[in-house]
Amino acid sequence: MEYISTRNSEKTFSFQDVLLRGLAPDGGLFVPKIFPTFNINELENLRNLSYRELATKIIYKFCSDEFSENEIKNLVEISYRSFRAKDVVKIEKMGKLNLLELFHGPTLAFKDIAMQVIGNMYQKVLEKNNLKINIIVATSGDTGAAAISAIKDRRNMNIFVLHPDKKISDVQRKFMTTVNSKNVFNIALEGNFDDCQKVVKTMFADKTFSSSINMSGVNSINWSRIVIQIVYYFFSFFKISEKGEKINFSVPTGNFGDIYAGYVAKKMGLPINKLVIATNKNDILKRVIKTGLYKPTKVEHTISPSMDIQVASNFERLIFDICSNNSKKILNLMNDFSQKREFKLEKESVEKIKESFCSESLSENETRFIISEIYKNNKMLIDPHTAVGIGVTQKIPLKEKTIVLSTAHPSKFSDVVAKETGVEPNLPESLQGVLTKKEEYKRLPKNLENLKKYILKQI
Ligand SMILES: *Cc1c(COP(=O)(O)O)cnc(C)c1O
Repeated sequence: MEYISTRNSEKTFSFQDVLLRGLAPDGGLFVPKIFPTFNINELENLRNLSYRELATKIIYKFCSDEFSENEIKNLVEISYRSFRAKDVVKIEKMGKLNLLELFHGPTLAFKDIAMQVIGNMYQKVLEKNNLKINIIVATSGDTGAAAISAIKDRRNMNIFVLHPDKKISDVQRKFMTTVNSKNVFNIALEGNFDDCQKVVKTMFADKTFSSSINMSGVNSINWSRIVIQIVYYFFSFFKISEKGEKINFSVPTGNFGDIYAGYVAKKMGLPINKLVIATNKNDILKRVIKTGLYKPTKVEHTISPSMDIQVASNFERLIFDICSNNSKKILNLMNDFSQKREFKLEKESVEKIKESFCSESLSENETRFIISEIYKNNKMLIDPHTAVGIGVTQKIPLKEKTIVLSTAHPSKFSDVVAKETGVEPNLPESLQGVLTKKEEYKRLPKNLENLKKYILKQI
């Protein structure tokens, strides 16, 4: 399979390039030149596979030049060994809705599902090529923890994680800062998540710096994360749908990575009706679908911090596809964006997006209300991100069955959940150590040169 950049569809890249670079050299995002598809019969043959079998089949489609199917099978096996759910994920019925619980991995958010596999993929590729890399990643809370858990103690990699100082939950921070491993470096940046992401993007774009340290990224812009996330759309679809039935997915969205994986699943032939973009007050995606204008406003700090994002990086992949892989058009839009901090989509593009997507947002009060209602009616504790995913389905009339992605364990946001339900959600026993272990992190100002110096000193 060949890959191209959303900003240059002429030059092609291998899966190994895509995995290790994260971002294309021209600043664009990697996408496959042609998406693999399953016809109806092939889809039915996937219906009864176990999660791990399905993961092997789907992931292999995207990286068969780099790995054998058996290698992928082994990577998948090793990666999900520590998960607390037999099938990696769990599905809970809740009336008309189905909750797809994606938080049974080591750091209690959906990001573990992709990151654990990526850690093992990196190791394999680096060993084959005798390479050493430095991973630098910005996190709105959960990516960092998932990445650290996947990369810690590995020989060929260091990982630097930038989180926005004081803007993530205590439990989120502790999952990162209590790991105590020689190759893990935590940085609390004095700014918000968009600042963290911008700094990382600028470092990538600085070719002298990024190549001097063999810099790599595992942010949700890394294509391999998307590939691994496609799997649970297929898996849950088969568990919930009858043959020939279309269903919806509601996805709590920040950087547009998780929901874009759903879009790829749809492109591959999975009969998804609508993908619902569920956002908190940071509703740039809802606005762009309404008006075509992509214009970030100030990031609002909310009780669902992993979605406190205004620049939804993966959205570029969607518009590239909607504009029929016209990379010149994307380049123009992105130039507009870097100069004016906004761009406008054509009406036709917006209509195309609406064929697959709809969007709603939830206020803080509405989110709190959902957490308390779900506890009252279903005796279930849900985290605030999942609550946003559920809440928006009450604002949009949808006839079909809907699967809501439940993206984090309630104990990761225990303060909010306890306040709304009166019940303190407990961390799974095996993870309770993070609450008391010693934390280690470096607080740094929002200054690029400073940051580079710090990184160079550690490696
Ligand atoms: C990262 C995250 C999201 C948002 O996912 P994107 O891929 O950035 O859209 C939602 N919920 C939780 C709990 C997360 O950690």
